[in-house]
Amino acid sequence: MRRHLQLGIKQLSASYADGSTSPKTVADIALDDAVKLKVLNSFIRLTPELALHQAKESAYRYKEKKSLSSVDGITIAVKDNFCIKNVKTTCASKMLEDFVAPYNATVYERLSKAGAVLIGKTNMDQFAMGSGTVDSVYGPTKNVWSEDLTENNWRISGGSSGGSASAVAAGICYAAIGSDTGGSTRNPASYCGIVGLKPTYGLISRNGLIPLVNSMDVPGILTRNITDCVEVLNVIAGPDEKDSTTIKKSFHKIHVPPLEKIDIRNLRIGIPKEYHCPGLSVEVLDTWKKIADILEVAGAKVSQVSLPHTAASIFVYSILNQCEVASNMARYDGIEYGHRAEDEHSTEQLYAKTRAQGFNSVVKTRILTGNYFLLKRNYEKYFEKALRVRRLIAEDFKNVFQPVDIANQVDILLTPTTLTEAPLYKDFIQQTNRDQCAVQDFCTQPANMAGIPAISLPIRLSSNGLPISLQLMSRSLGEELLFKVARWIEAQVQFDCLENKKIYEARN
Ligand code: GLN
Repeated sequence: MRRHLQLGIKQLSASYADGSTSPKTVADIALDDAVKLKVLNSFIRLTPELALHQAKESAYRYKEKKSLSSVDGITIAVKDNFCIKNVKTTCASKMLEDFVAPYNATVYERLSKAGAVLIGKTNMDQFAMGSGTVDSVYGPTKNVWSEDLTENNWRISGGSSGGSASAVAAGICYAAIGSDTGGSTRNPASYCGIVGLKPTYGLISRNGLIPLVNSMDVPGILTRNITDCVEVLNVIAGPDEKDSTTIKKSFHKIHVPPLEKIDIRNLRIGIPKEYHCPGLSVEVLDTWKKIADILEVAGAKVSQVSLPHTAASIFVYSILNQCEVASNMARYDGIEYGHRAEDEHSTEQLYAKTRAQGFNSVVKTRILTGNYFLLKRNYEKYFEKALRVRRLIAEDFKNVFQPVDIANQVDILLTPTTLTEAPLYKDFIQQTNRDQCAVQDFCTQPANMAGIPAISLPIRLSSNGLPISLQLMSRSLGEELLFKVARWIEAQVQFDCLENKKIYEARN
């Protein structure tokens, strides 16, 4: 019955066209599975009426041989910080628990115009602040690979787009949209054993994505394989007049050649030595080395490079994040939208009580710290200095991708995505949110600060049976090369998240 799950997006679309399955059947199964796998807590809200309506229309189009794109009839999920018209958009917060978006985020608008079928909105850390999907008012999301989903020793799915990653890894839908400010798409992709793309800043519109850090936020894509990721990117990327920060150059669809035509000989791969950092697990390190060796044996030129400001990136990110958060969160005052405290006698009291009730302690802490950094007496010392170091981090990447001396140039950087396999929830929550991010985002944040593309792809299972993934980064707008190399590695390692038998048994 679930044979369609083995298919990629293109093949599924082909089987809709030849009538061997239908968008309605696939949507029905997805909704059914989402309910059966409720224990994961991947979704904040399912959208069955919308899904069935979209599936019906899609089925009609296939019947009439007028399908709109390869994602026509494909089941998707969207993180709950993207606005979808007439659907609640909560950011997993009390502040927005009753907020119904009046318009569609561009990402969703493009997917729905291309025929995709929305199954629901996914769980996340409140306002996307976190790396575990443990700080949601709807409770945490469990990792599909956990040894035990019922007891107190299950694994986190990573965050903040943990719900999106979990929905894809569990096979509920083919693709999900996340957001990535410091790693929130790649981190849960890594822990859940799927592909997670953080595109070049400005390649995908942020219109309708509730902002966390405007200068770093990008919509991210989560899929089970590279080819599916390309399909989705081709639908959603490109300039948008509703987001002035999108890259104006028109977007040409990315084409990844068939495997036999991908030639990695002479490709220059850089291994940044600073990513070999404290806390890196032995198994992740081994995996990293093994893939570097495989690439070298196949003819790529693998060399060590240096990105000297890497270690500063956690501090810089933290300052800039909190400053932008302090400013972005100012809009939630109980007046225009979102939660409003009752019985207040002055406007100031209304603001204060609304915000005290509507935000969790993570959001409050970031607002307070951000405002502290922005005080007149601190502005230069923290905010301006952080901006200067951010530029140095970006220059580190430029110095390896486009160096003055071309002999030192590399095309791709290969690093771990996360330092370890997915932690146990009970261990993870012993740390503060700040410490969680400092460890979990070490390898992912630099790409956000430089605006360059990065992708996480699963490589193998650890001795505990949990996914271990690696990250590839390239120069700005280097997505096509990133996909080619990722596709090549994917074929070598043959990681299949559908082999996670436990989760398939759990739904029956
Ligand atoms: N963990 C980081 C934070 O909490 C990144 C979050 C994200 O990418 N949305 O800020």
